[in-house]
Amino acid sequence: MNENFLTSQIEKSSGSTWDAVVSQIRRAGEILGISEDIIEVIIAPERSLKVSIPIKRDSGKIEIFQGWRILHDTTRGPGKGGIRYHSELTEETLMALSAEMSLKTALVGIPFGGAKGGVKVDPRKLSQSELERLTRRFALEISSLIGPAKDVPAPDINTDANVMAWFADTIWNISGNFQSATITGKPFAIGGVMGHQGATAQGVVTVCKRLLEKHNAGLAGTRVAIQGLGKVGGPLAFLLSSLGARIVGAQDISGTITNRAGINIAKLLSHIENRNPISTFGEAEPISPDDFWSLDCDVLIPAALGGVIDSQIASKIKARFVVEAANGPTLGSGDEEFNTRGVIVAPDILANAGGVVASSFEWAQDLQGYLWEEELTATRIRDTMEKAFDSTWAKAEVLGVSLRIGAVALAVEKIAEAHRLRGLIF
Ligand code: NAD
Repeated sequence: MNENFLTSQIEKSSGSTWDAVVSQIRRAGEILGISEDIIEVIIAPERSLKVSIPIKRDSGKIEIFQGWRILHDTTRGPGKGGIRYHSELTEETLMALSAEMSLKTALVGIPFGGAKGGVKVDPRKLSQSELERLTRRFALEISSLIGPAKDVPAPDINTDANVMAWFADTIWNISGNFQSATITGKPFAIGGVMGHQGATAQGVVTVCKRLLEKHNAGLAGTRVAIQGLGKVGGPLAFLLSSLGARIVGAQDISGTITNRAGINIAKLLSHIENRNPISTFGEAEPISPDDFWSLDCDVLIPAALGGVIDSQIASKIKARFVVEAANGPTLGSGDEEFNTRGVIVAPDILANAGGVVASSFEWAQDLQGYLWEEELTATRIRDTMEKAFDSTWAKAEVLGVSLRIGAVALAVEKIAEAHRLRGLIF
């Protein structure tokens, strides 16, 4: 990685999702009394590979896209983190997301470090065969970093099991080794596991339930507004409404809707699946995107992009609880506003960790060559998430801090311990 770039990013004080995660790690270090040297080692991404991805468009024209894979911290195990395709993707965003993965894997106690990668592209503008060529070329370009004991990618925004299959096939062809643990979130037929899809949503539900229980409440009748109805938000909205929650507002890239009596989520999801904009869903009122944030609700769930909640947006939010299904949805200024106003936030590294827990179980099953019963995978994911919630809650209480800082402190403690035990190579 370009050192000046890295230093300048680490020294910035506030504003981006990277700044937010850096300041959380520093704050946790201060509270825990961990030396600044170790904290700076934990913050600095280990490695960033920037690649050019030339592909032939269907028209015959060659176009070059930019991609990255960032290994943030691999002291506790191989890199783990998704592959994102997005038109606004930057190296700094990936740095933040990779750091969050290091914290997340440590918090839930799975044997991985943190990584993240992706391509700056709007996949909606590519045909299926262009998307496949892009994925295979990206896999080739970053293949030197990838492997079950090195770095294990997974799906993220705009990538899915099909993209993972092309990615895996390329790596397996280059290496000549069929190592199914190379990548997770694969289709079942090539080493995927039952229960991976929907695991993030299941984990968010577990955290919501636990959080409400701590406040003598339950999901039944709870009013929820949700931003994002994709791989996480779609099944999440469905699960929550099946458990009795009332989804009073929903937003995706195509629009925003509200219905105080509760939106019929099964119908809404099939409306979206048929490629209709959300605003044309007949059984809810379309509203402006800005009005999403001030909807009357008990729980607000960002399940789309990062960096969407600054202090101004946070000040509009009426919900008592914010459950971060997305990665890095809240900027530092938004978090301060939440703390001032007493809004309780279940932080991303806890709330959405169900997906990486499932990924870790897929990796374990692939390495063993032995498939667990689906029910066993589901039970182990639920147990892991409950344990992570309970230890975060206890840590936050002991330290007298927010759940976010409690979660980051637990994670930083484990990563710092790994650094202390391993030491520096030279
Ligand atoms: P996805 O691409 O499947 O869905 C994204 C959703 O966000 C879509 O509904 C889209 O319409 C909506 N969206 C995009 N831009 C928007 C905008 N400007 N305004 C409102 N809505 C917008 O992605 P996903 O896999 O569901 O991931 C969503 C979030 O959850 C991301 O932050 C991701 O990092 C995080 N996450 C995903 C997983 C996983 O297993 N997929 C695991 C952990 C965390």
